Amino acid sequence: MKGLPISLALEKRRILIIGSGYQATRKLSLLLKFDANQIDVVETETCSDYQKRRLDHPTGWQVLENIPESIDDYDLLVIATGNRESDADTCARLRPCRALINVLEQPDLSDFSFPSIVDRDPIVIGISSRTAAPTLARMLRTQLEGVIPQNIGRLAALTARWKERVRDAYPDVTSRRRFWENMYQGRLSEMVYAGKDKEAESYLAQSIQDAVPDEVGDVYLVGAGPGDPDLLTLKALRLMQKADVVVYDRLVSDPILDLCRRDAEFIHVGKQRANHALPQEKINQLLVDLAKQGKRVLRLKGGDPFIFGRGGEEIELLMENGIQFQVVPGITAASGCSSYTGIPLTHRDHAQSVVFATGHLKDNSINLNWKALAHKNQTLVFYMGLVGLSVIQKELIAHGMDSDTPVALVQKGTTPQQRVISAKLANIVECVEQHKIEPPTLIIVGTVVNLQAKLHWYEPNKC
Ligand code: SAH
Repeated sequence: MKGLPISLALEKRRILIIGSGYQATRKLSLLLKFDANQIDVVETETCSDYQKRRLDHPTGWQVLENIPESIDDYDLLVIATGNRESDADTCARLRPCRALINVLEQPDLSDFSFPSIVDRDPIVIGISSRTAAPTLARMLRTQLEGVIPQNIGRLAALTARWKERVRDAYPDVTSRRRFWENMYQGRLSEMVYAGKDKEAESYLAQSIQDAVPDEVGDVYLVGAGPGDPDLLTLKALRLMQKADVVVYDRLVSDPILDLCRRDAEFIHVGKQRANHALPQEKINQLLVDLAKQGKRVLRLKGGDPFIFGRGGEEIELLMENGIQFQVVPGITAASGCSSYTGIPLTHRDHAQSVVFATGHLKDNSINLNWKALAHKNQTLVFYMGLVGLSVIQKELIAHGMDSDTPVALVQKGTTPQQRVISAKLANIVECVEQHKIEPPTLIIVGTVVNLQAKLHWYEPNKC
């Protein structure tokens, strides 16, 4: 291997930067971020933006007009005028010296390089490929940015604050390590990621005292989005890979379930129209029972848990039972279907508002304010509206909506099986039978539907 990644404390180091262009100023900012406070920069260009930098970083650095006669006092030297030849000459002229040298984009001349950095201070990850493949290193950095929680640094800082107390409680190294592993894999990290630092600290204090962390489990109420696994949030994915048991609905697609922890227990609680595999009250109770067994429970729902998802009812019972939980939003069917069909839900020329409504039938009617819905310049999105479509059609027309208004039926939106059928409001009911439309289907009503002809882009069946 070449190029040992070391973590260098810069507070007491003297650093010289030669150059004042864009690259040199970026190096200055980076070094200041790492608490370097004795930096000299040599201004080599008339139009440097060092003066501007002064406003952001007033201290810790000073501008020199020339390279000092003696550079013996410096620990690091960054030569970054951007002129390859003169940078190489400067490097040759200044060697030998005790300072480690970096020459901009000339690794062969350099003693050290600046890695791509993932910043989760106090955790810092540097990725370096030296000369081999800097673009690959940058791509890897982007991938890591996605999977490492933003607040992991806060978890590290909390650990630092509690290190001594934990050491006193667990003098033995192995049991201390096990304690921290339990904390990180369990509730503590999720509390910190959710910004509940106070609760996290009292949980930590309690766990040290009891020495039995995680007796009661947690529930993660997570929105799985409309179907395409790529639409999951990073947080959803993290919790999916952490949970011991997954309680999921019919709407959650198989490719999404495949991303859950392999050895988790899977419980299907169904929910098909009039064919609830498990009634809602039983689902609520199941979550409580599983958590009380000490499990990390993932309640995975299609779309967003708080949009026609009964998520509110589920967390109410958790709250009553004092069970820790968190709610993770998902992309709701309206957003997913809108994007993947090319039907913007609002548009300056068509709709200034959008309404999400349920088309679920109760006693053969739908309890909605039809007068307010049957408005021009407004888009209506009906969830669960397939069975009640003839009621929707009748009421909208009866309350003044033009029977020529376009309607789109979006079946299995965002998945490879997505289908879109459009017709006028007057004819939409026949379309369902004619095209054998099945649930889950979203109904979009409004002139924005006409934009689909021009804006559609997702054609899964042609792939
Ligand atoms: N919480 C979910 C909605 C649950 S209600 C969300 O936020 O999306 C169930 C209804 O959502 C279905 O009857 C259907 O109207 C709609 N739906 C969910 N996923 C869909 C999809 N992939 N394509 C079309 N409609 C969908």
